[in-house]
Amino acid sequence: MPEPDAILPVPTPTDLHAMAYTDLLTGLGNRYRLRDKVRLLAAERASDPAPFAVCIVNLDGFKPINDLFGSHAGDEILCQVAHRLKACIPDGATVTRHEGDEFAIVLPLVFERISAERVGQMIKDVLSAPYDLGDRNVRLSASLGFAIHPFAGSDFDELMKSAETALYRAKRRGRGNIVVYSSEIANEMKRATELEQALRNAIIKDAVDVHFQPIVQLKGGNVVGFEALARWNDPDLGFVSPAVFVPLAEERGFIDMLSDALLRKAAEATLAWPRDLFLSFNLSSAQLTDPRTASNTLSILTSVGFDPRRLEMEITETAVMTAPDTARRVIADLRQAGVRISLDDFGTGQSSLGRLRDFTFDKVKIDRSFVSCIIDDRASEHIVKAVIAMCNGLELEVVAEGIETEAEALKLRQMGCGMGQGYFFGKPADATATLRYLQSHHHEFTVVDRG
Ligand code: C2E
Ligand code: CA
Ligand code: CA
Repeated sequence: MPEPDAILPVPTPTDLHAMAYTDLLTGLGNRYRLRDKVRLLAAERASDPAPFAVCIVNLDGFKPINDLFGSHAGDEILCQVAHRLKACIPDGATVTRHEGDEFAIVLPLVFERISAERVGQMIKDVLSAPYDLGDRNVRLSASLGFAIHPFAGSDFDELMKSAETALYRAKRRGRGNIVVYSSEIANEMKRATELEQALRNAIIKDAVDVHFQPIVQLKGGNVVGFEALARWNDPDLGFVSPAVFVPLAEERGFIDMLSDALLRKAAEATLAWPRDLFLSFNLSSAQLTDPRTASNTLSILTSVGFDPRRLEMEITETAVMTAPDTARRVIADLRQAGVRISLDDFGTGQSSLGRLRDFTFDKVKIDRSFVSCIIDDRASEHIVKAVIAMCNGLELEVVAEGIETEAEALKLRQMGCGMGQGYFFGKPADATATLRYLQSHHHEFTVVDRG
């Protein structure tokens, strides 16, 4: 047995020190090196007020490549990225690698937004050239977030947090974007945090409400169900649209808390309706990436005493595509319990007909943007016609959203669309008004009421 100590030289304290500051894969410095560099520069600049910049570089679509070609290929790409970054950064700059596909650069001579963007564009171009993996070439893009000291943060942690925020915004815009942290972003973040606090309080105080909008059979005009829509009227902030606060709750990680409260409220209100009416509820995209969503939903229904067969969950294509495997499981578990699945906003996402075949849906909701132009725009009319024909062929139910006029309702009925929803049939109304409406209009109501 060879003794390891006899073969491997014992590292000296200097070696150990170097190792602690080095990323072993690429040979670049690591996060500790970056921290030291930033602290040193900040201390130097305390007497000389010139700003400097840090930049976080994140590769777009690296994970799928790693999954597809293997971690060897992934490592090879990371090394090539490290090499390119080292070769292209301006004099005096330092590049480091953090976890995964994230790199950082300290730029002592970048003082303001325009030059940050210029350097960012150059880095982006350098990283977008093909990567040689021996038997094949792959292409990647990169997203970049910049933060300028001292405006975006005076210490290391604050500065990096700002750069991460800028990167997050760049990523949110799609691939290959550059964002420099600015006072506008800082203000938006502050407003979002205030909104977050107010929303968390509103949820705890049970002040977020649910309204209901009727979904009708286009032939005959009977109401068949209602879509639940969240409503929040804050005493200080006034009316806040769900298109603002739902994404905020997703981004800040408390969408479950919000959605659970809304589902409970909506299901409780629905208990008072005739039993043939369904409740359609919007599931947020973040919930489809969480495997606990199905069991959570079902346990809320059980505690309210609500039959899952009366529930439809509205989901979007984008949500399905974010985490296809988890989404598939959540959908399958919900359907197993009798919940039906509607594909919401159809036609607005990265629609692919193939996807319709991959996932099991029961219903498709055609987005308002098509419905609102079917009278004047031939192209929209044909698209809607084709979608209806396809859904009929696949035995999927169809709802046209955002019907505002009788002409649209008639036209859609002629086109063979089964159901409709929109201001023409009814605006979203609170639980009390909805119940009153049903008591005076719905033919089944008296039967159920007696039973
Ligand atoms: P959505 O799911 O597409 O909901 C339909 C939106 O269109 C609603 O807006 C509704 O009030 C509006 N609408 C309905 N008919 C008409 C019409 O004839 N004309 C026009 N112009 N608009 C019409 P709302 O309530 O502001 O909700 C906006 C979005 O916020 C929803 O779009 C949905 O994505 C999200 N949202 C609302 N409530 C919830 C919720 O409880 N959970 C989740 N995850 N998302 C929700
Ligand atoms: Ca919806
Ligand atoms: Ca919709």
